[in-house]
Amino acid sequence: MSKLDAALAHADAHLDESVARLTTLVAIKSISTDPAYAADVQRAAEWLTSELAALGFDASVRPTTGHPMVVAHDHAAEGPHVLFYGHYDVQPVDPLHLWNTDPFTATPITGADGEVRIHGRGTSDDKGQLLTFIEACRAWKAVNGPLPLKVSVFLEGEEESGSPSLKPFLEGAKAELGAADIALVCDTDLWNRDTPAIVTSLRGLVGEEIEITCASHDLHSGMFGNAARNPIQVLADIIASLRNPDGSVAIAGFYDDVAELPEDIAALWQRLPYDEQAFLAGAGLTTPAGESGRSVLEQTRSRPTCEINGITGGYTGDGFKTVIPARASAKISFRLVSNMDPAKIRAAFRKHVTDRLPPDATVTFKEHGGSPAVSVPTDGPFLKTAARALAEEFGQEAALIGSGGSIPVAGDFKTILGLDTLLVGFALDDDRIHSPNEKYDLRSYHKGIRSWLRIIAALAE
Ligand SMILES: [Zn+2]
Repeated sequence: MSKLDAALAHADAHLDESVARLTTLVAIKSISTDPAYAADVQRAAEWLTSELAALGFDASVRPTTGHPMVVAHDHAAEGPHVLFYGHYDVQPVDPLHLWNTDPFTATPITGADGEVRIHGRGTSDDKGQLLTFIEACRAWKAVNGPLPLKVSVFLEGEEESGSPSLKPFLEGAKAELGAADIALVCDTDLWNRDTPAIVTSLRGLVGEEIEITCASHDLHSGMFGNAARNPIQVLADIIASLRNPDGSVAIAGFYDDVAELPEDIAALWQRLPYDEQAFLAGAGLTTPAGESGRSVLEQTRSRPTCEINGITGGYTGDGFKTVIPARASAKISFRLVSNMDPAKIRAAFRKHVTDRLPPDATVTFKEHGGSPAVSVPTDGPFLKTAARALAEEFGQEAALIGSGGSIPVAGDFKTILGLDTLLVGFALDDDRIHSPNEKYDLRSYHKGIRSWLRIIAALAE
């Protein structure tokens, strides 16, 4: 029996104990956003550290000005060096009355489809997911002794509360953590229960707030109507000008740094099981908006966006008031892809607005953050190896997919540690993370452990 097969067999035979450890971790109420649970967050860090130390890792709890980090190393082997990341903090559990089981008691429930799902806060996000990797290390070590490659484990306790300590910690640990060859992040979804996925791009974001001012004060429409410039009309005209009739964004230069999907990835997306109509129907919609000629998958995963998130102005209270307001404002955000530069997009947007201001209208802009997109080269050796290992475990080609949202840690690993990240996750999109009745698919937990064993073995070759 190969070392891999022996480790896989051990993981299978000891799955119940792996679930028991997940149960222990779920019982620790590590809610990072609520100071009342600070001691629990600390306890979760200590529990993980002692588990890793018992596996032979050089493990420690590292204090920060917020919640601690867990750092553990096992560098006995020669060969590539992976840095594994997960987070051990969880979201609050309220409203409690909407839970069908106690949130901190991991409870296996068999569904009508015969699949077992473990209910409880953090079972999926991210305690179950981070344990898939640790349990894989445990199974390997139990039967084969030392791991076949260098492993560093880095666990955060503030992911659900904005990661305030992450950047400063990484800055201070550049030499220690940046020595790895690749980061592995386990906090994303499978494509579906039978199809593994590697997230290869995360979109960036630019937030802008604009306020249009015309008259010096609100006016009466009976006295000033027609003659006075109306800032809501100005704002509406500007907002309407942001999109072309074909749905593309009309800001000059907006698409300059947007790359088309590589042909092999575009072909892979074509093959993925994906029901556009069902996706829209889930939101009560029937017809895709946005850029014509682009699939919904492309639009939500690999194309930039321009969305109006809020708009205010004039009288919005009960009844009616014939006012010509003095000002109107809107919040507008852009999701960025490829090499789009947040500063350049912000400047292009501001020029687009300023160029369209009629007489008597002035504008002020307020910045609401900006971050570039992150992408992992899809032809890199680590990614190819991991994709092959996942395909072996699932008997299905791995989906190399863009994520519509963002996972900031991947950007920080790149900019601070100089590391590319492989985002390999084993959650399902209906795990109800952050919501009551969070659950984790037992089969996916098991397959996650097995997948990491395959990835570890393949990367070590
Ligand atoms: Zn998470």
